[in-house]
Amino acid sequence: MRIFKEKKEINSFLSDIKKAGNTLGCVPTMGALHSGHLELVKRSVCENNFTVVSIFVNPTQFNNKEDLDRYPRTLQKDIDMLSAAGCSVVFVPEISEMYETDTLLHMDFGVLDKILEGEFRPGHFNGVATIVDKLFSVLIPDKAYFGEKDFQQLCIVTKLAEALHKTVEIVPCPIVRESDGLAMSSRNVLLEDQYRKNAGNIYNQLKWAKSMKNILPAIEIKSKVKEELNKQFRVEYFEIVNPKNFLSVENFTDSDDSIALVALFAGKVRLIDNIRI
Ligand code: AMP
Repeated sequence: MRIFKEKKEINSFLSDIKKAGNTLGCVPTMGALHSGHLELVKRSVCENNFTVVSIFVNPTQFNNKEDLDRYPRTLQKDIDMLSAAGCSVVFVPEISEMYETDTLLHMDFGVLDKILEGEFRPGHFNGVATIVDKLFSVLIPDKAYFGEKDFQQLCIVTKLAEALHKTVEIVPCPIVRESDGLAMSSRNVLLEDQYRKNAGNIYNQLKWAKSMKNILPAIEIKSKVKEELNKQFRVEYFEIVNPKNFLSVENFTDSDDSIALVALFAGKVRLIDNIRI
């Protein structure tokens, strides 16, 4: 497995690989890898001749300095896991390599970057889009793998690729969960015991919401789930939306497809999850 820190070097290495007729899959991550990340890597390894994983804790997508400072960093362990998973190339740039100047692109994603995560984490999706744009420009993958756990991010990246990186196919990957249902996340190691013990209830509530689809009106499901989760956590939002346009679903008959999305604080740790309804 080759490890690169510089854009120029990895770009030239990967260009040669592609010129030789190989396909390239890419998995952008912020490290502190877990089995959720590895599922993306394994899928890419299956579907491409070469897989490149980037590990970069992207400062511009953090709207909270404390969250950035506390973000887990486990580089050597990550590299060992990637090597065992069959990854071919790792890109671990320094901040100065990705942000030579402090100029940031500002992109407009319509309603998508203004509601839910966009509302509670101002600037977050602009930071995500900026780094994904930079990574795609350097790595030029054929396919890029993103988890459905970050559903809104997946939609933003899909729009970004449609607009600026048409040759990159975005591949959505299902959410990987712990045995109690908690969606795997690099931040889970930061959970205090009492919150970790109850964290399976987040998924239980999502499943309950799904089971109530044709039994209770959406508005009642939303208020009951919020009430339940607020007993143990601090809910920022629990919403049921149409995944195509992110309009709030008030009445299930208006939308054949819907998704319930939640963000909450478990102590100091912010968690997100979702379920198709
Ligand atoms: P992150 O390192 O948190 O930026 O995540 C890197 C990629 O892994 C993103 O596309 C995430 O959506 C994906 N990912 C993170 N956790 C999970 C999970 N539990 N299941 C599936 N994909 C995940």
